[in-house]
Amino acid sequence: MSENYGDLIARSQRYLEIISQSELTQEEKEWVVKEVVEGFRENVNPGFLEYRKSVSTDYTSVEWKDSGSTFTDIWGKEFIDCLGGYGIYNVGHRHPKVLKAVMDQLQRQALHSQELLDPLRAFLAKLLGSITPGDLQYAFFVNSGTESVEAGIKFAKMYTGRRSFISTTRAFHGKSLGSLSATAKGVFRKPFLPLIPGFHHVPYGNAEAVEMMLESCAFVGEDVAAVIVEPVQGEGGVIIPPEDYLPKLRELCDKYGALLILDEVQTGMGRTGKMFACEHSNVVPDILCLAKAFGGGIMPIGATVARKPMWEKLVENPFLHTTTFGGNPVCCAAAIANINVLLEENLPQRSAESGVYMLGKLRELAEKYPAVVQEVRGKGLMIGIEFFNDELGYEVAKGLFARGVLVAGTLINAKSIRIEPPLTISREQQDQVIERLDNTLAEVDKMAGGLGK
Ligand SMILES: *Cc1c(COP(=O)(O)O)cnc(C)c1O
Repeated sequence: MSENYGDLIARSQRYLEIISQSELTQEEKEWVVKEVVEGFRENVNPGFLEYRKSVSTDYTSVEWKDSGSTFTDIWGKEFIDCLGGYGIYNVGHRHPKVLKAVMDQLQRQALHSQELLDPLRAFLAKLLGSITPGDLQYAFFVNSGTESVEAGIKFAKMYTGRRSFISTTRAFHGKSLGSLSATAKGVFRKPFLPLIPGFHHVPYGNAEAVEMMLESCAFVGEDVAAVIVEPVQGEGGVIIPPEDYLPKLRELCDKYGALLILDEVQTGMGRTGKMFACEHSNVVPDILCLAKAFGGGIMPIGATVARKPMWEKLVENPFLHTTTFGGNPVCCAAAIANINVLLEENLPQRSAESGVYMLGKLRELAEKYPAVVQEVRGKGLMIGIEFFNDELGYEVAKGLFARGVLVAGTLINAKSIRIEPPLTISREQQDQVIERLDNTLAEVDKMAGGLGK
């Protein structure tokens, strides 16, 4: 639909004025909500409005600003963020140090020339080489988790010359055609089949299943390039594998000459109580995928980190795999500040401690409401609560939203909700979450006659 350009200049100017204002009048707020709902209905996707209606008491709740462990909607209602952007906000929302690094860099140079040596890429890669376990050394920077997995898949093919991959059921690795091949969920894959050939999915947490597949693939002459797994499955509903799972996978990969790719897009940067989840079992992958919280909750940036041998072909031809925006200076500035803050504020350790506290409290609630809560599990501040059915999960997510707590309970899998607050969340806020959950569960428990087991 084309409009008079004069109108469009005026409208975009109005948007810019709204963006620049720290306070809005009542009239402006109403206008914004109207514009947003209309924009979603006509130009984004009306499906999101239906989705919001199903999980929220007020579907026109438009988010407006954030800070620390909370965000605020346009009407001024504050939410404790236990969804954490599915694990973006490890250092909290708009951490001042990350914000400053981004602003400082913006004042000097936003994007890179694409030709000269850009300093921040080197700074960040040096830090990453030191902070990641074992001999992980070289980093390729990208814009998202999907791209970090995509690069991981390509690097594994490039290095091994092999074409088969083993992934796991309930895995989530992204939705581009390559990464989607590793992802397991049928609803996301089916409309796009066939994906890239050579992917085999085996049950998660079962090392024997991986061994059988490695053996079968070798037997038929389709040797496996890499095994890709999440150390704790996130989208799958916070699934924690047996303790010896990763060590066994490491051993099996070595035995069969396959690479081990760990997708720590969600578990990385302190989420599970260590900087990287693989450190719980002292396993060093050949390729490590990072994103989400990597950009300090302010900029989108991911990384594919690998051991030196994996880089051989890329050294011969550094243009074999590239991205225009990946590793740009503003994003690197955010990631550098993020690492600084995680270490300086000892956030992996705080995540471990808060996780123990929250899990303890949540288990008490599980005992108090046995007709509603089936199981509570977690590692650090990556916590899942499983209900007896989807409806119960929905009601709990909805009740928490009404009480100012945002959790991850989605249309696709409402049976388990995820709690992934900023690692900086205070004890007081944790107690508030528990109290509001207690009230919500009491309410849902009453209805559970019709909904429960
Ligand atoms: C979110 C996620 C991805 C995809 O990351 P995007 O930034 O959304 O592309 C990949 N792997 C895991 C484990 C994730 O949690």
